[in-house]
Amino acid sequence: MSAVDSIELYFVNIPLPAPFSPAWFTNGKRSSTAFYLVRIRTGDGVEGFSAFSAAGRERAGSGDSLASLLLGKDATDIDHVLEMLHIPGYGGIRNFWVEPAFWDIKGKLAGKPVCELLGGKPCKLNLYVSAGEVKAPAERIEEALRNLEAGFRVMKLRVHDMDEAVDIRQVQEPARALEGRMKFAVDCNQAFWLTGNGPGPKWDLARAKRFADACHEAGLLWVEEPLFMERYADMAALAAYSRIPISGGELHTQGLPELAHMIDKRCYHIFQPDAMWTGGIQQTMEVARLARKAGLKFTPHTWSNGIGFAVNMQIMAASGFQHEMVFEYPYNPPGWTLEARDALLQQPWRHERGTLQVPDKPGLGFDIDEKALAHYGKCFFRASRKTVSWMPEALRDLTPAAPLAR
Ligand SMILES: [Mg+2]
Repeated sequence: MSAVDSIELYFVNIPLPAPFSPAWFTNGKRSSTAFYLVRIRTGDGVEGFSAFSAAGRERAGSGDSLASLLLGKDATDIDHVLEMLHIPGYGGIRNFWVEPAFWDIKGKLAGKPVCELLGGKPCKLNLYVSAGEVKAPAERIEEALRNLEAGFRVMKLRVHDMDEAVDIRQVQEPARALEGRMKFAVDCNQAFWLTGNGPGPKWDLARAKRFADACHEAGLLWVEEPLFMERYADMAALAAYSRIPISGGELHTQGLPELAHMIDKRCYHIFQPDAMWTGGIQQTMEVARLARKAGLKFTPHTWSNGIGFAVNMQIMAASGFQHEMVFEYPYNPPGWTLEARDALLQQPWRHERGTLQVPDKPGLGFDIDEKALAHYGKCFFRASRKTVSWMPEALRDLTPAAPLAR
């Protein structure tokens, strides 16, 4: 047995080279990207990492339960790890994002990439470039042409206007301008409503149907998250109605039970869970299996940071959908760049003409850049089988990740 010897938690805050205004956050402007990083070390010195998006200090106390549940346990027994991570969930704190760190350890111990442990093998993935901001059609077309030039053949757009006619123009015009050269998908980001900075669009089934019709006519590939994520019946009705695939699933934090129910109800045609939110690697792999069984499609969401991207990439390479679906590549310069997204990694995930080779390196396939971690991160919790230290002072001067423009 390879026992968990220590657990460290870091708060990492990486400045963005330019302000970034995510489509999903009305009036929100981000100047940095922030996440929690966990480092699990075993008694034989193997380290595993995972990371989860942060807003501020909301996980400051998480170390207490993680340490009491995981120290001394077999790091390779994923079933038991998941069982332990489930427990704080009943108190409202979901910790499934920690599970990939154990797969990282398991892969390193076995000398194999995680995708191989999952039954796949390192392969070349076809990517779609995923924009994060809403842009006016002229600017969007220029951006699409730059992406085309870089080798991408599929791009995901964003819409988030109060006026649905504006949304429709934002998909129609690029589709018309690049017809025959590039395909588009669109993310409506209606699964959750972030209206803290003022009112944002809130779609109902009728608007979602009209938008899906317009996207079908414009020749798009899919329409992502056109409805609030808990409106299961409406989603199923939309999917049954729509002539274009409806997709979603990145934020279903109850994990497999919820997504299995949604597959059963055929809420989406394409399931896009993200292991960091939707139950870790093991549960997300099961979503892929169930989607296949139901005749539906699967391609994981990856928009968080370079570590979340790596985790979902390993899943994609073993999902059975790796040769038929495109895989999300978050990239929205000048704010959301490869350098900022992957700042903590020794080797950033650089695409090659719109493709990416999954590495054959053991574990999740990346090395943490310890210098970058020392620069951008603050360790606020460290526990071993011998000592526990909580360093609240590390979080005292923390600037929340997303100072919000109002
Ligand atoms: Mg999305």
